Amino acid sequence: MPIDATQPYDHGNIFARILRGELPARIVHEDEWAIAFHDINPQAPVHILVVPRGPYVSWDDFSARADAEEIAGFIRAVGAVARAHGLVAPGYRLLANVGGHGGQEVPHLHVHLFGGAPLGPMLAR
Ligand code: 5GP
Repeated sequence: MPIDATQPYDHGNIFARILRGELPARIVHEDEWAIAFHDINPQAPVHILVVPRGPYVSWDDFSARADAEEIAGFIRAVGAVARAHGLVAPGYRLLANVGGHGGQEVPHLHVHLFGGAPLGPMLAR
């Protein structure tokens, strides 16, 4: 069920619990600003979620409220994860779903990083 991206941050959401170490995840990257882990239901040979440590509901919330250091740290983490997984030369795709029309289900900002094969059209037809 897609979320309302204007809702207040819910500290009990699944990714907040992974960030606090309360739920397991296959973590591939951790730094001051972000963590990254494999998606539980991968949609491509490589499907990693990159999540900022701060409490942001969505890309909208993050772009409005995060400070410049957090934004830079998060974006650098996304790039570092892609490079560490050898995705740059073959290519990859980034996706952030926002709210209802975006199909966002987890109310903590995450970027999907897809790769490992040609990914086809950008949107389902
Ligand atoms: P959204 O639709 O919010 O952009 O994507 C949420 C993603 O989180 C989905 O791809 C889903 O498979 C993934 N996901 C949901 N719950 C868990 C979980 O507990 N662990 C992991 N690793 N991924 C999850």
